[in-house]
Amino acid sequence: MTTTGDSRQQREGQARFQVGSAFYRPRSAIARDLAVLCASLYRQTHARLRVLDAMSGCGVRPLRYVLEAGADWVWANEGNPEVMPILAANLACLPGDRYRLTQHNSLRLCLDCYQRQDFYDLVDIDNFGSPAPHAEAGLWAVRLGGLLYLTSTDGRSSSGHDPQRSLQIYPAYARCHPAAHEQGLRLLLGHIAQVAAARGLGIEPRFSLFTGQVHRVMVRVVRPSTLTPETYGFLAYCHGCGEFQTITWRQLGQVNCPCSQPKIVVSGPLWLGPLHHRPTLTAMGQLASTWGWPTPARLLQAMAAEAHLPPYYYTLAEIGHRGGMDIPRRDRLVKALHQAGYEAAVPHLEAQAIKTNAPLAECLEIARSLPGDQ
Ligand SMILES: [Zn+2]
Repeated sequence: MTTTGDSRQQREGQARFQVGSAFYRPRSAIARDLAVLCASLYRQTHARLRVLDAMSGCGVRPLRYVLEAGADWVWANEGNPEVMPILAANLACLPGDRYRLTQHNSLRLCLDCYQRQDFYDLVDIDNFGSPAPHAEAGLWAVRLGGLLYLTSTDGRSSSGHDPQRSLQIYPAYARCHPAAHEQGLRLLLGHIAQVAAARGLGIEPRFSLFTGQVHRVMVRVVRPSTLTPETYGFLAYCHGCGEFQTITWRQLGQVNCPCSQPKIVVSGPLWLGPLHHRPTLTAMGQLASTWGWPTPARLLQAMAAEAHLPPYYYTLAEIGHRGGMDIPRRDRLVKALHQAGYEAAVPHLEAQAIKTNAPLAECLEIARSLPGDQ
């Protein structure tokens, strides 16, 4: 990452820019690749794409939305006055009628859009730390049927290491368990769904991405609310036996585990609905292949495979540990689960794990029956 006075010319996609004193994380390029693909599809479908990029930094996102996604118009806003000169210089390559550049507080900017009834097809907010209050703000500025792309870099609280803080942010009580990275995405989605529902709006996740430090979710904003006891509930994990279970609000008083030494923790409320919209992922993957983008195409394929699986995963290390065996070969285990009639895939956010509708006990049985290495 680059944070101070970098005058080298950078390149990402079709964007050419300098970072200067702005914050730029090259590792998050994949999050911008997916956003560009999703935005481009939106442009194709709706014959229109107006983007509000509320925290533009050095401007790589507005550049890519115009140059690659074909955005008709992008509003690039940045609250930090020190970054404005480099942002202005980087955007100067765009035609003047394709963008607007301002220096406002992003929250006030979104509320101002609402007051003027100026709504956007895509609102992108790439903030530091927790998603609150940016989810609230983004919903003011996005048009019905439009896309909202939100961020959380607050992995410590969403992974269960600071449940009091997660309660203050989401608000949900996050506990520690092996599927913590997915929990970060589901807390973020649950928060947006709840804030939207309070206004009679709903969300439909297009894709949800974890890049190692950053959680990002792209949701379509719809009406009516999509928040129901089925999509918004609790995840229980038993430290005794390693099994997960989803818990609805009505089941809260009956949380139990049939194992011999139950030790249950309950996280939530969080989003229990799909992480991704499979038809969108397929269309994005086709576009990525057409554009010659193999890495996003592979990632989108992995995301499509996991889209409808349960809201947790088992790490291979835990399977090895609980089964008292060597860590099983991932691909062999996935294949064996398929042969046993289960759905199984490798979660996009954790390469050394499997996502499946098989109970952990069944995974352990199947892993034990795998032939050893020759
Ligand atoms: Zn148990």
